[in-house]
Amino acid sequence: MQISVEKINSPGVLQSVNPSNGDIVWDGMASTKGDILRAAENAKDSFPNWSGRSLSDRTDILKKFAGILGNHKDELAKLISLEVGKPFWEAKTEVAAMIAKVDISIEAYKERSSEFYGGKAATRFRPHGLVVVIGPYNFPGHLPNGHICPALLAGNTVLYKPSELAPATAEFVMNCWKEAGLPFGVLQLIQGGPEPTRFLVNLPEIRAIFFTGSSHTGKKLAQQFAQKPGMMLALEMGGNNPLIVDPEYIRIIEGAHQIILHSSFLTTGQRCTCARRLIVIESTKSPAFIDTLIQKTKNLKVGDPFADPPPFMGPLASISCLDRVMLAQQDLLDKGAVPLLLAESTNPGTGFITPGILDVTDIQNIPDQEIFGPVLTVQTFRTVDEVIQKANNTPYGLAAGVWTDKGSRIFNLTTKLRAGVIWANTYNKFDPSSPFGGYKESGIGREGGLHGLSAYVK
Ligand code: NAD
Repeated sequence: MQISVEKINSPGVLQSVNPSNGDIVWDGMASTKGDILRAAENAKDSFPNWSGRSLSDRTDILKKFAGILGNHKDELAKLISLEVGKPFWEAKTEVAAMIAKVDISIEAYKERSSEFYGGKAATRFRPHGLVVVIGPYNFPGHLPNGHICPALLAGNTVLYKPSELAPATAEFVMNCWKEAGLPFGVLQLIQGGPEPTRFLVNLPEIRAIFFTGSSHTGKKLAQQFAQKPGMMLALEMGGNNPLIVDPEYIRIIEGAHQIILHSSFLTTGQRCTCARRLIVIESTKSPAFIDTLIQKTKNLKVGDPFADPPPFMGPLASISCLDRVMLAQQDLLDKGAVPLLLAESTNPGTGFITPGILDVTDIQNIPDQEIFGPVLTVQTFRTVDEVIQKANNTPYGLAAGVWTDKGSRIFNLTTKLRAGVIWANTYNKFDPSSPFGGYKESGIGREGGLHGLSAYVK
């Protein structure tokens, strides 16, 4: 080990704050360099035993973990709602996805990584060794879990660095693994923000990094490891996702509006796949289509995650998340965006915000950035070719959607759009057997589904 044990400059206290009311949810310390070095040592020591165990042993522990998550599902969902402001009903769906991931990982391992014989050769897959999982805040349980489960099943040992906005959720999940009988050292938690993460990823023992987060951070990681081609780097990053609508050819207008609201504002706009750019194919029907959308957006219920009746949207995950969204909206307004409905911060000192819609059709240089919150931009264009060109004119390529009942247009649009996931007449629907990942600056990993497992072995 080359790196000496010393305190990180500002190790400090780490707190997670409830964005609904400012209460402290979790209070502790970020991991120090010493903690991280010890964790890496433990992980290295436990690798031979863990990877040497039979697949059925490891499978049993994963299944126990799923059972324990099931026993505590409401507690975990509550913690997610407290830490990141997700409505409780939605946090429960996140926990359900975590439980489902166990069986999907087991099935994917059998499909993709079982040894096979062809001619006189045997092909066997091996774990990487010590791997790092870095999580974002918007799905603090489900997204890291989506890497941890298959990585452990494949025999890797894992250092898990959750978002600094959700340390309590991570700690809870770790306790579930412990209760499931996961041996010491196989999965360890590193708490904190960018600083401990930078130290962690530079440890010489790390063989793979599974990162989910912004394109900004992902690109930094990619630059950092440009000279280490042997490092498996899976990057799941952001997007500036277009959703193309064709009001002239939409039979069920109500359904299209519902999908737009869900695609843009679910999770308070904090889904990597959220539609950010509504691109409208102009027709005599488009003004009325947009007017009704504005009215429906105004009616979305924003409220406390535990309110009864439940809200559609809770607060943004933190006050700094709110500040970023408000600044991005202001920037568009300064550049000439027409506010069709302004997003507004409703309770100072919390993350609560109402959804907004801005018409940016006439702005020349629209900043091509992901606004990670409930602000939807709208642009209207005359021809389908122009619409495709505008939709693809971005360094991102995570998700895209199309809504039209004209069959030839569905085909034309979906075949020409450049994005990892393309939905037609629906949005944000996921088939667990399909892989997930973006083009260009949205990602290089392919997680999920049966294909995803390839990343966790070599
Ligand atoms: P982020 O990039 O700010 O942080 C992600 C993680 O990286 C956190 O754990 C953070 O502590 C760590 N980190 C931050 N700066 C770092 C640095 N310089 N070096 C090393 N680690 C660093 O992202 P976020 O704000 O937590 O999450 C929101 C972003 O994640 C959005 O852009 C969203 O689109 C994206 N996202 C992508 C997917 C996907 O599957 N493609 C899924 C969810 C979220």
